[in-house]
Amino acid sequence: MSKKYVYFFGKGRAEGDASMKQLLGGKGANLAEMVRLGVPVPPGFTISTEVCKYYYDHGKTYPEELKDQVLKAMKELEEATGKVFGSPENPLLVSVRSGAAVSMPGMMDTILNLGLNDETVEGMIKSTNNPRFCYDAYRRFMQMFGDVVLNIKHEYFEEELNKVKTEKGVKLDTDLDADDLKKVVERYKEVYKKAGHKFPQDPWDQLWKAIDAVFGSWMNERAIKYRELNGIKEGSLLGTAVNVVAMVFGNMGEDSGTGVAFTRDPNTGEKKYYGEYLPNAQGEDVVAGIRTPYPLTKLEEMMPDVYKQLLDIFEKLEKHYRDMQDIEFTIERGKLYLLQTRTGKRTPFAAVRIAVDMAEEGLITKEEAIMRVSPDHIETLLHPYFEPETKKNASLLAKGIAASPGAATGIIVFDPAEAERMVKEENKQVILVRPETSPEDIAGMAAAEGILTSTGGKTSHAAVVARGMGKPCIVGCEAIEVDEKAGVIRIDGKEIKEFSWLSIDGTTGEVFDGKLATVKPQGLEGPLAKILQWADEIRKLGVRTNADTPRDATVARNFGAEGIGLCRTEHMFFEEERIPVVRQMIVAKTKEQREIALEKLLPMQQEDFVGLFKAMEGYPVTIRLLDPPLHEFLPKEDEDIKALAEEMGLSYEELKATVEELHEFNPMMGHRGCRLSITYPEIAVMQTKAIIGAAIQVLKEEGKTVIPEIMIPLVGHINELKYLKKIITETADKMIEEAGVDLQYKVGTMIEIPRAALTADEIATEAEFFSFGTNDLTQMTFGFSRDDYGKFVKEYIEKGILEVDPFQKLDRTGVGQLVKMGTEKGRSTRPNLKVGICGEHGGEPSSIEFCHITGLDYVSCSPYRVPVARLAAAQAAIKHGK
Ligand code: PEP
Ligand code: MG
Repeated sequence: MSKKYVYFFGKGRAEGDASMKQLLGGKGANLAEMVRLGVPVPPGFTISTEVCKYYYDHGKTYPEELKDQVLKAMKELEEATGKVFGSPENPLLVSVRSGAAVSMPGMMDTILNLGLNDETVEGMIKSTNNPRFCYDAYRRFMQMFGDVVLNIKHEYFEEELNKVKTEKGVKLDTDLDADDLKKVVERYKEVYKKAGHKFPQDPWDQLWKAIDAVFGSWMNERAIKYRELNGIKEGSLLGTAVNVVAMVFGNMGEDSGTGVAFTRDPNTGEKKYYGEYLPNAQGEDVVAGIRTPYPLTKLEEMMPDVYKQLLDIFEKLEKHYRDMQDIEFTIERGKLYLLQTRTGKRTPFAAVRIAVDMAEEGLITKEEAIMRVSPDHIETLLHPYFEPETKKNASLLAKGIAASPGAATGIIVFDPAEAERMVKEENKQVILVRPETSPEDIAGMAAAEGILTSTGGKTSHAAVVARGMGKPCIVGCEAIEVDEKAGVIRIDGKEIKEFSWLSIDGTTGEVFDGKLATVKPQGLEGPLAKILQWADEIRKLGVRTNADTPRDATVARNFGAEGIGLCRTEHMFFEEERIPVVRQMIVAKTKEQREIALEKLLPMQQEDFVGLFKAMEGYPVTIRLLDPPLHEFLPKEDEDIKALAEEMGLSYEELKATVEELHEFNPMMGHRGCRLSITYPEIAVMQTKAIIGAAIQVLKEEGKTVIPEIMIPLVGHINELKYLKKIITETADKMIEEAGVDLQYKVGTMIEIPRAALTADEIATEAEFFSFGTNDLTQMTFGFSRDDYGKFVKEYIEKGILEVDPFQKLDRTGVGQLVKMGTEKGRSTRPNLKVGICGEHGGEPSSIEFCHITGLDYVSCSPYRVPVARLAAAQAAIKHGK
C-alpha cells in the first residue's frame, strides 16, 4: 500500500483529528476535528507535513503518490460541494493555506479564490448572478497569486487598480463596477507580462504552483526568523502542511459576513464571548483594517439564528478542547462556516483567570490549571509594564541583560547621591544610569525608579540589589557608554543628555528613548492568589526568601515566603550612619581598636535582626556572616579618603596606605567570606552576639518563636568551618545559658566553592545545614568572573558555545553535578541534613525544577520572585511526581 499523504475532511467525514497536529499542522488537524464534532466547516483536504519534509529532502520534488492522492481528494471535494474544479459552468474555487504544528501567525502565505480564470469566472457569474463580485474575486486572486507565487510586487497591481479608478474619476474600490474590474483583470495580465510571467489559466497549474509556494514559504526568511525568535528548534517540526479548502464567501451581500471570536475575553479572562464581526466582507478585509468591524453582538441583531448557532459552537469547542478558543468564521448567504479554531493567545492576567475559572468550573483539574500558567505570567503581573501600544511605537535604543523585571521611566541621573536628592527634594522620577553600582550607591538605587548599568551580569551588585528591592534593572548594556564628565550617554553615535527621559524594561532588557506610559501591577489577589494557594498544596520544595531588611522580609512574607534563606549582613552596613563605623572597624590596627568599632555596630545589627525575626515569626531565618572583601567598604576617591581620615583622626597618608594594603588583584577569590572571620574572629563574635541577642530579645519580650540559623560563607575546607563553629557556639551557648531561655539555633554553611561540594561528606559532620550559593559556585566552576562575564557571555550564546547564561539558569550538567554530589555526600554523613539554594538560581523555574529533582528541601529567592518560585516548584512536582 502506498503511503498516505493527503487527508480529506468534510461532509461528516474526516481522515484526520486533533491529535495529528505534527502531521497535519494545527489548522488541518483542527478542521478535521471540527468535522468530527459536527461543526460546519467548508470541506477540503490537507497535504501532510511529511510532504514538506520530503520536498526539502529531495531537491524540491514530491513523492510519486502525491499527484494521484490530490486528484482523488479533489474529486471528493467536488462531490462534497457539488462544484467542479476548473468547470466553466459551476466552478469550484479553493483557498490554499499553510499550517504548521505550531502556529506561526502571518509568517507564511495564503492564496484565496484559486481556480478562477477567464472561463471559470464566467461560470461563477452564472451560478452567482453577480458579475461585479466575480470579477472582484478574480482580480484579487491574480494579485495574491502574483505576489505570493511569482514574487511580483504588490504595488504594481495597486498602481494599475488606482489608474482604473483615476480614469473613472472615483476613489473607492467599491465604486468600480463589473466592467471596470474586468478591465483591471486585463491590466493585471500586463503586470504579469512585464514581470516576465504569464498568468496561468489552467487551474491545476495554479494549484500546484500555489502548493509549491506554500512549501517554499516554510524556508523563507520571515519564517526562519520567526522560529528562531520563538525558540522553535530547527528540525523539531517536519514542516508546514498545506490546506486546500473550498472557498466560502462572506462578501455576497448583507446576509454574509466574516468574524473572529474568542470564547473568553483574552484581555481580562472574563467568561464572555469576545469578538468582531464585519458584514459583507472577507477575512482579509478585517485584517487589512480598511473597514472597522462591529462587536460580535451586532450579529445577534442582524442574524439571531446564526448568532445562536455560533454560541452553541463556541460552547461545544471550548468544552471539547478544554481551553479558550480563538475562532474564525464566515457566513455565506446565511450559512455559517467555521474556518479555524485554535487555543487562543491571552494576556498574563487572562491566563491566570481562565486557568482558575476552568478548574472551578470542573473543565480542567487544579494540576492542569497550574501547568497552564507560566512563571513569566506571574512575573509580569507583579511588576509594572509598559502600555503595549506605547511600547510598540517607542524608539528602542539598546538591549542589555534583563536583570530585574518591571518597567520604569525617569530622567537619567548618573550620581546616586544626586538621584536621591532629586527624588526627595524635587519629587523627580529618576533612572540611575552608571557603568556599575557599588554598595555605597544603595540609597540612590532605592530612590530611583530603575537602574541601568553598562557593565555587569545577572549576579552583579546592581542586579542582586535591584532584584531584592523589586526594582526594574538592566545590566551589561554594553552598547551604552556613560560619560559622566560630558554629562551624556552615547549609544551608536547618538548622544543623550543627563536629565533627559529614559525608559527601561527590566523584563526584556530593552532601553527606550523618552517617557513611556506604564501600567500598574495587579498584586497578589484574586485568581493569582488562588492558583498559588493550589501550588502550595502540591509543591514539595519549600520557598524562602533572600532578604536583608525587615521591610524586604515583610514583602516576602506577604508573597508567601516560608522563612529567610539568606540574609546578607553586609548589606546592613551601608546605611549612612553605619558606614563610618564599619570603616573604623576595617582600618583598625589592633584587635582593641577593632573591638571598639564592633561594639558600636553590635546594637545596630541586633536591631535589624530583631526586625527580621519579628517579620518571620515562626519561620527559620538564615543569617550569613560577613562575606565581601573589606576594601569594598573603603572610600576610593582621594577626597573621600581625606574626609574619612579627618573624621577618624588619622593622617591622609596613613589611611591611604591602609586602603592600598587592602587592595586585592582578585577580590572575588581574595580575603572574603569565612576568611575574614578567621583573620578577625571578633567579627564572628559580634555577629553571633547580635543574632542570638536579637533572638533572645524577641523570644523574651514578645514570646514569639524564633528559629535562627547562622550561616558561614565561602567554606572550602572542613577546618574553616570547625574553627568558626566553635567560636559561634561558645558565644551563643553562653548567652543562651545566661538568659535562661530555651532557644534552638543551627550553624551551617554555604556550599559555593567546588571543594566544599567535593568534600561535602566531611563538611556535613560539622554543618547542620547546607545552602548552595550557586552564584559563586557557578563563578568558580566555570572560572567566569561574576562581575566581568557580561563582556563575553552574549557572544558565547550567539555562537552557540553556551545555550543560556549560566548565572541565570543553573548549568545542570556542570554546576548541577556539584549540587547533586554535595547533597548526596552531605546526607551520607548527616541523613537529616537540610539543603537549600540561595544563589540567584533559586528564583529561576528551570533551576527550581532541578532542585526538585535533586531532592533539595527549599529554594530561596528575592521577595518578588517568591510567587514565581511557588508556582515553578508546584509545576516541577506535577511534572516529576511528588
Ligand atoms: C552565592 O554565591 O550564590 C550567594 C548566594 O552569595 P553571594 O551572591 O552573596 O556571593
Ligand atoms: Mg556567595
